Amino acid sequence: MVKEGDIVPGNSHFDTTKGHIEFRKATAVDCTIDEAFDTTLEHPFKGNLDLEKLEKVYQEHPKDKISMCIVTVTCNSSGGQPVSLQNMKDVYELSQKYSIPVMYDSARFSENAYFIKLREEAYKDWTIKEIVAEMYKYADYATMSSKKDGLVNMGGFIGFKDEETYRQACTFNIMFEGFVTYGGMAGRDMAALAVGLDESTEFDYLETRIKQVEYLGEKLREYGVPIQYPIGGHAIFVDANKILPNVPQEEFRAQTLGVELYIEGGIRGVEIGAILADRDPVTRENRFPKLELLRLAIPRRVYTNNHMDYIAAALKNVYDRRHEIQRGVEITWEAPIMRHFTVELEKL
Ligand SMILES: *Cc1c(COP(=O)(O)O)cnc(C)c1O
Repeated sequence: MVKEGDIVPGNSHFDTTKGHIEFRKATAVDCTIDEAFDTTLEHPFKGNLDLEKLEKVYQEHPKDKISMCIVTVTCNSSGGQPVSLQNMKDVYELSQKYSIPVMYDSARFSENAYFIKLREEAYKDWTIKEIVAEMYKYADYATMSSKKDGLVNMGGFIGFKDEETYRQACTFNIMFEGFVTYGGMAGRDMAALAVGLDESTEFDYLETRIKQVEYLGEKLREYGVPIQYPIGGHAIFVDANKILPNVPQEEFRAQTLGVELYIEGGIRGVEIGAILADRDPVTRENRFPKLELLRLAIPRRVYTNNHMDYIAAALKNVYDRRHEIQRGVEITWEAPIMRHFTVELEKL
């Protein structure tokens, strides 16, 4: 669906989604609301798309150059932040007006539904499953990384509303994975996924999981460690610009914080900052995003709250000695695309 020279607007695109778009020599355009870039601001739906920014993209480019609009639910790159149902409806309506299909990048779709139930008045009495069904009325396609809210070890799927595109994709499937019923995923894995999707759309499961993330977030709030608010559904996003302002931006603040936390407590976070933002595909210059975040993604059904206490204490220790950290890291090797997965660094 994405061709060379195309434009693909959305809220903050997930890193590999953006990587795929750029691999096709197309351009991903970020239409996230500005509120998402202020980590201290409490906004219920920081994953929302800015309709004005989106319409501007629709007006400035010919229709056949815009492959689709991608709505990532929840929006990982802006801090695990949800999209409201109202915004989904508005985006869909606007996109229909310009005949642009809408695709949901769905990895955390049920956590997004949980936040809709809690934060969007109209849906407070709806079940998670009803909210999910409502959400998907406003998408033409969906991709799913099932190892997230599918509650399985591996796998994924693509959903289609129109049969024509579905059939085209099935042909690709046979070429690269296998027949649609026994391709990339074995039958028993698909059966496990069916159970996972059912469980992950149960309120009690979501509450237990998200409350644990919140527990960690509240500990960090208590310690004064700056993080993205409101606290995300699957992860805490630590604001490295606020913690390490003395480390030059070119020396990768969030990555530096990640290294320090690993040395301190053996805790592995992931940089959502300039290394992930990668180089501009045309100029090859480093791109410096507004936010330098260290993501602490919490695996579901693995840890106890004691582990959360440990993580918070380790991060507090790093925070307390933040003034001693003056230098960051430099890249000694990087891949030409999606460098953050395999990048090699040296401490300065
Ligand atoms: C994880 C994720 C992906 C990529 O899925 P993989 O299964 O890791 O290839 C895409 N989009 C979002 C929003 C994700 O969270």
